[in-house]
This record gives sequence, C-alpha cells and structure tokens, in this order.
Amino acid sequence: MAAFSESEIDDFGARAEAMVNALAKISAEPNRLVRLFLSPEHRRAADQVAAWMRDAGLDVSEDALGTVRGRLDGEKRLLIGSHIDTVIDAGKYDGPFGVIAGILAAEHFVRAKRRLPFGIDVLAFGDEEGSRFPATLASSSACAGVFRSENLRLADRNGVTLADALQAYGKSPDEIPTAAYQRGEAAAYVEVHIEQGPVLETRSQPLGVVTAIIGQTYLNMEFLGEAGHAGTVPMLLRRDALAGAAEAMLLGEKLARETKGEVVATVGRMAVAPGAANVIPANVVVVFDIRSGPEAARAKLADALKAGVREIADRRHLGLTITSTREVGTTPCHPHIQDALADAVRALGVEPLRLGSGAGHDGQAMAKLCPIGMLFVRCRGGISHNPMEYASPRDLGLAVAALIGFIERFEPASLTAR
Ligand SMILES: [Zn+2]
Repeated sequence: MAAFSESEIDDFGARAEAMVNALAKISAEPNRLVRLFLSPEHRRAADQVAAWMRDAGLDVSEDALGTVRGRLDGEKRLLIGSHIDTVIDAGKYDGPFGVIAGILAAEHFVRAKRRLPFGIDVLAFGDEEGSRFPATLASSSACAGVFRSENLRLADRNGVTLADALQAYGKSPDEIPTAAYQRGEAAAYVEVHIEQGPVLETRSQPLGVVTAIIGQTYLNMEFLGEAGHAGTVPMLLRRDALAGAAEAMLLGEKLARETKGEVVATVGRMAVAPGAANVIPANVVVVFDIRSGPEAARAKLADALKAGVREIADRRHLGLTITSTREVGTTPCHPHIQDALADAVRALGVEPLRLGSGAGHDGQAMAKLCPIGMLFVRCRGGISHNPMEYASPRDLGLAVAALIGFIERFEPASLTAR
C-alpha cells in the first residue's frame, strides 16, 4: 500500500483544483457556468478530458452517448466515473471533480508502472443533471445497458429531440446498444463526488463513505374547494383549498420531523387557482418530495401522510386527488466497497464517516450493471448547484489519495458472492 506524504496529498489537491478550474472555464455563458448535454461546450469539455486521459497514459474512446472513456487495460474492469454536464449557473466541483479524481488515480498506477489485477475505465458522463432534456442519466444508463429508447423522442426547450441532438454531436442513436458493458466485464462502479450537503462539514470530516443513494417518492396532491368573494363569504361557510393544502404541508413536516432524520419531506412547488388576493382559493396542487434511505420508513411516512391529508380534506369538505408521480428505489452501496473505501480513508488518518446521499447520481443507473460505491468530499456550507460551491484543495487531495488506496485494496472476487 502506498503511504502518501503531506506534500504528495497537497500536490494531488493542487492539480485537481487546477483541472477543476480549467473545466469551469468551458461554459455557454461568460458570467456563469452552463454546460448542457451534447452542446458545443460539452464537446469542448469532453475534448479536454480526453486530452488529460491521454496524458495520463490511458487509451481514450467515446461511446454513442458521448461518454469519454479512458482505459487502463485488464480483463475485469473497475469503472470510476462522474459527469461533466452542469446545471444552469452551476458550481464547478459537482461532477468534474469525480472524473478528475479518476484520471489522477489511474495516472498514479501508470506512472508507478504498477500492474493491477484488473483494468480501470475512467468514465466522463454527459447527462447526469437532466438540465437539457426532461430525463436524466442517459449516458450511464447506456453504459449499464438500460437506456430507454423512447427517451430519444424527448425534446429540449427549443424542440430539439435527444435523437437530433445526438446526430448533431456526430453520434448515431442506432449504436447506443454498443455503449453497454457486457455482464461480468464491469467489476464495480465507484464515484467520488462533493457531498452537496452539510453533514461532513458539521462533523469536521473531509471524506465520507456513502451507504446508499436514497430513494424518492413524489406525491402530487390536488385539493378542490370553492372559489368565493374574500369579503362576503363567512369563514365557517368556506371551502378553502389553500388552507387545506397548508394544513397538509404542516402535517408532512411534522411526520418527517418525527422520524428524527430518517425521512425528509419537502413541498417546493404549489399552484393556486384562481390565484387572486381577493378570491377564496378553489384549486391547489402541491407536490411532496419524500426521501429516505430505508424503503420501509419512506412508505410508512407516505401512507401516514395520505391518510392524514384525507382526514383534513374530509373535515374541510374539499375534494382530494392523490397521485404518485415518481417512485425511485434506494440504491445501496455494496458493503465490501464501503469497507474498502473506509479502510483507504482511515489509512490517511481520517475518520471515515458513513452517510447516505440525498442527491441522485450516475451510480443509480450503474447499479443495474454492477455493485457500486461512492466517496463524498466535504464542501463548504453544504452548498451545491450554486456558483458558491467550494471544496478545499486539501480535501480534494485527500479524496484522490483515498481513491488510490481504494484501488489498491479492491478485490473484484470479493463482490461476486452477492
Ligand atoms: Zn453531480
């Protein structure tokens, strides 16, 4: 096992930060970071990543979805990746750092002329954020062999379909099946990513081992009341849909608080009709976003919320329709990968905190192909999807060193008995 000196870790951090900054300059707009899937900026970022991979001694190719692959040969392969697309007005670490960490780690083994008992593919995906098309994870889904061809018909804001955008990018949708790894070829998928939340910072730890990418339930609730004059209808005779929705939201908050951190529930969107200050609201739609690691806890909260909201609607004489518009299961990280990551983190003298990922990641698609694992890096204030996003060069350097330590400890055979 390599033991790293302070200056080696600082060197990794300085190089990673310089590469993060170089990619951050590639944007569709001069004053903010915008890099959408299959855009000219995606092309430029992919070319930059490919050049770094070549310099690192990797064989570079690009698949039918534009995913850049840097390969260090071997029969079984450890896949290390993240994404190079961004949200609109993005931070610069979310995605690119995971690709860069993979390149720096692979380069370490090339330079040391150390032959590993498996190959490595560093993957730079282009569609994790879903900022262009109304779907997400197209790139990693293609690698995992679960790309949905009906998504080719989805259009962006300008009416350009995914199929057309791929063609304009020089790709052929017919070749998407060739992007898939064969079963047994991929030993595991590992991703390094900034945490995008405040847990590591709060606990004063630079690195965390992810236990699972947490699942999500969307409940769409429509309340039907009766519009009326805000001055003439007495309070007791009203059927106010917004007052009912407000009570439902407070119930959701109360139920989630009672789980003591196991489940989080949010209403971030509400539509009120007719939407005038002097009219009693007749129709309100709210969307509950409910997330948790344990599936059972999420289902229990959703059931309790639905029952409670029905009671609220009955008492207020409101019509109520509840529909589940999204159900994404929890994606667990493989226990052996978690342990190997934790050992690698501990070897750096850092306590490996275990935590769930509340945000979605490419690993959710890759888990359909092979076992997955994730390493989180502390980010300042837990801020992400925001130009204020920041991770220190020291923490980036520790993450690269931990990834190298993980690769040294990784045993594909330990995962086969699943
Ligand atoms: Zn990301």
